[in-house]
Amino acid sequence: MTNATSQPARGWSRLGRSLKQWFDADYGNGDLAAIRARPDRVEWMRVVPFVILHLGCLGVFLCGWSWTAVGAAVGLYLIRMFAITGFYHRYFSHRTFNTSRTAQFLFAVLGACAVQRGPLWWSYQHRHHHKHSDEEEDVHSPILRGFWWSHIGWITSARNFPTDYSQVRDLAKYPELVFLNRFDTVVPILFATGLFTLGHFLGSWFPSLGVTSWQMLVWGFFISTTVLFHATSSINSLAHLLGNRRYATEDNSRNSLLLALITLGEGWHNNHHCHMNTVRQGFYWWEIDISYYVLKTLSWTGLIWNLKPVPRAAYENTHRIPGTRNPLPGHPTRP
Ligand SMILES: [Zn+2]
Ligand SMILES: [Zn+2]
Repeated sequence: MTNATSQPARGWSRLGRSLKQWFDADYGNGDLAAIRARPDRVEWMRVVPFVILHLGCLGVFLCGWSWTAVGAAVGLYLIRMFAITGFYHRYFSHRTFNTSRTAQFLFAVLGACAVQRGPLWWSYQHRHHHKHSDEEEDVHSPILRGFWWSHIGWITSARNFPTDYSQVRDLAKYPELVFLNRFDTVVPILFATGLFTLGHFLGSWFPSLGVTSWQMLVWGFFISTTVLFHATSSINSLAHLLGNRRYATEDNSRNSLLLALITLGEGWHNNHHCHMNTVRQGFYWWEIDISYYVLKTLSWTGLIWNLKPVPRAAYENTHRIPGTRNPLPGHPTRP
């Protein structure tokens, strides 16, 4: 990594750099400050794998479907959504419970199967979001940059690809996590290959299932992962636009039952922005938070412990503003 490679590349040079970055996410990130200071620009070559992920869904017209393949898609959506919310978000980003180093690594591998890049990149971007929510520095504010940029545009921008390890020092001290983060396509490739292989054996051993290796790849990987991405992204976009506000936070975060159901609990986003250091995001029994129920169950097995509770202050002095729309006090830039 040199400063020279952190300069904006052109033509073949840009193509070569993007190809290397597909496999080594830290390549060319020498001068982070310079990269972060660049204007937003879609890095088309860099996002080719992301485009392929979406195009892969069209494979359904070639391979068809079976109940086994559809069941795999749904099951893998739920498991990996939990890995994103329970591990990438509530563990790595916010450290709302403790676990062993071995379990931490396994959580990171499971999270990496969601194909949302590495755990340190995810945590770095998320911590940055909390620090600057709906302010000029927020890289995915729908208030300041519009719905589509907050939903999908920001992850295609060259300035948002690097991980600033100085902002996740608590995680960067583990070389195994840094490895997963740097080579962030390794786990997804193994995962997709594993599904294809599984489909082959299921088709051979249990022909009555009617499943094929291509169906497992298209449904279990491409469709399930694409839907998973957009559901997760809805928290960056819709959870700052739709729903109610219990707490008068400085950002535009919202609470939404619909988003909470889709994302296994992340829809209680206004609760979370106000009290981000608790493992729960639904603060009342009727605020369904499936990730919390799973984490609580895991704590009974001893796999995780020291789950941080909702602070007493969260139940006092709440300021609910039903259906509130912009602007909020202190944010004159909102439309
Ligand atoms: Zn937010
Ligand atoms: Zn958070």
